[in-house]
This record gives sequence, C-alpha cells and structure tokens, in this order.
Amino acid sequence: AAKNAGGNRFVFYTRDMTDRAEARLRLESGLREAVAARSFELVYQPKVEASGGRLTGFEALIRWRHEGVPISPGDFIPVAEDTGLIIEIGRWVLEEACRTATRWALDHGPVPVAVNVSARQLADPGFARQVEQVLQRHGTPPDLLELEITETVIMKDVRHHLPTLNRLRALGVRIAIDDFGTGYSSLAYLRQLPVDVLKIDRSFVNDLPHAPDIASTVIALAQRLLLSTVAEGVETAEQRHWLAEAGCDCLQGYLISRPLSADAAEAMIMTAFACDEALPLSA
Ligand code: C2E
Ligand code: MG
Ligand code: MG
Ligand code: MG
Repeated sequence: AAKNAGGNRFVFYTRDMTDRAEARLRLESGLREAVAARSFELVYQPKVEASGGRLTGFEALIRWRHEGVPISPGDFIPVAEDTGLIIEIGRWVLEEACRTATRWALDHGPVPVAVNVSARQLADPGFARQVEQVLQRHGTPPDLLELEITETVIMKDVRHHLPTLNRLRALGVRIAIDDFGTGYSSLAYLRQLPVDVLKIDRSFVNDLPHAPDIASTVIALAQRLLLSTVAEGVETAEQRHWLAEAGCDCLQGYLISRPLSADAAEAMIMTAFACDEALPLSA
C-alpha cells in the first residue's frame, strides 16, 4: 500500500510539473507575441507630498492581458527577465513613459514619471545610451524621468552598476532605490551611489504605526544623506499620519490612489494645476 501511495504521489507530481511547464511555455510564447504586437499598457500611480498632499509625480506600472486575463507583473516580469524579453519590454516602457510625460508637460505642465528598471536592463552596457536617445527622441526634459531600481539589484553588484548609474545621473534623470530595506545595503556604498530617492518598502509601511523601527531608520538615514523618501503601499490614514509626522517626504499607495489609466492620471494633473497647486518640481 505504501509503495502504491508513493507511486500515485509520483504520478501526481509529474503531472503537476508538466502542467506548470506548459503554463510557463504558454506564458512565454504569449509574451513573445505581446512584445511583437506591443500589446502592453502603462498605468500611472500618483505620489503626493506627505504634508499637504500635493501631487509630485507618477510611477508607471506595466499591465498585460494574456488570453483576456490580466497577468500581474510580479508573474510575467521574472519570465521576461529569464528569456531576455525584458530588454524590449523595458525599452517600450521607457518610450511610452517619456512620450506621455512630454505630452503632459506640453499640455499642462511638468509632472515627473518614474519607470521601473529591471536587473537585465541595468546590466545592459547600452542602457544609459538608450535612455539618452529616448529622452532626445521625445524631447523629454531629463528631470521629468525618474528610474526606480530595486535595492537588491543595485547592491548585488554595485561596482559593476556604478558607471551606468553615474552616466544616468549625468543625463539629469533622477534615480530611486525601490523596495528599500528588503535587501542589504552597504552604508558605505549607499553614500557613494548617485541616488536621489529611497522608496520605503511596502512591508515596512504595512508595519506602521505599531512597529515603526525600520521606517524610522530609513527616514533618518535618508535625511542624513540628503535623499528624499517615498513610502510605498500606504493604505491607512494611521500610516499616512505617522509618515507625515516622521518627516517622510512623499506617499504612494491605495489610500491616495490605485494606479490610473493615462486618461485618469491626466485628469488628476488638470485638477492639480487648476487648483493652483504648482507642482514642487525644481526641488
Ligand atoms: P514596485 O515597483 O515596488 O511597485 C509597487 C507595486 O505595489 C505595484 O504592483 C503597485 O500596484 C502595488 N501597490 C501600490 N500601492 C499599493 C498599496 O497600497 N497596497 C498594495 N498591496 N499594493 C500596492 P504591480 O503594478 O503589480 O507591480 C509589481 C512589481 O512589478 C513592481 O513593484 C515592479 O517591481 C514590477 N514592475 C511593474 N511594472 C514594471 C515595469 O514596467 N518594468 C519593470 N522592470 N518592472 C515592473
Ligand atoms: Mg517601483
Ligand atoms: Mg516598490
Ligand atoms: Mg515593491
């Protein structure tokens, strides 16, 4: 009986693995087609000042529907990374974000847009040149583009990434360390890195207000290094209140707004400018 059970388990296991392999292959070929057809979309999640609530910019987030079903970037970005498709997808995201930021700037006024950059893109020796060309092609003022790079990606090979980061910074784009606090940063490196913004990871914002140690530490560190802070994943009024009191600069999360379509984001920008809320840009 034991042997039988083991045998059944084995059969079950292989079928499960086959299913997963098939699902993965379908995802991969779906991604390839989507890249060729450019059938992705960007949504835009606002960031606001912690004190006062003025709009300070947006983060562009990619969206993809595969066979009619929305697939989360957490599921397909890793596949895009493994297959190298991320290079083309990343280029599309950059183009689309810069095109949109330029149009908004011309129609309403300057509003920065942040773009997420993956490990493979950052490691690509042509990346800084690509960013420069995209900015030129769309006539985008460099200070309207912010690049978000996760802490784990930057810190995994700081010395290798440093020249690229310096080149990007020299172009005039801003650099944010995303999901800060989840990796392990060498403080010595952090001081040398050409970064402007630390984004406090959602998991630490989620701990507020009862377990504030990490959020407090990141804010204090940023203040020491003259970096600005953005809290991601702000969902409650208590969290917002704590962050504003603690001196966090900007907030992002469902409490403020879900990610918006380009049209809805533009409507928000029009309201912000109409309310005479000059965006705090040259800061
Ligand atoms: P991220 O850059 O840290 O983005 C924040 C994620 O948290 C987004 O998920 C956003 O929709 C979600 N979020 C925002 N506010 C809240 C909140 O209050 N509560 C909760 N529970 N979630 C919130 P999304 O869009 O699914 O993206 C997941 C990750 O996928 C991103 O994390 C980023 O690492 C990656 N990603 C998204 N778009 C792109 C892209 O265009 N290129 C690359 N390379 N990566 C991307
Ligand atoms: Mg991000
Ligand atoms: Mg993040
Ligand atoms: Mg995150």
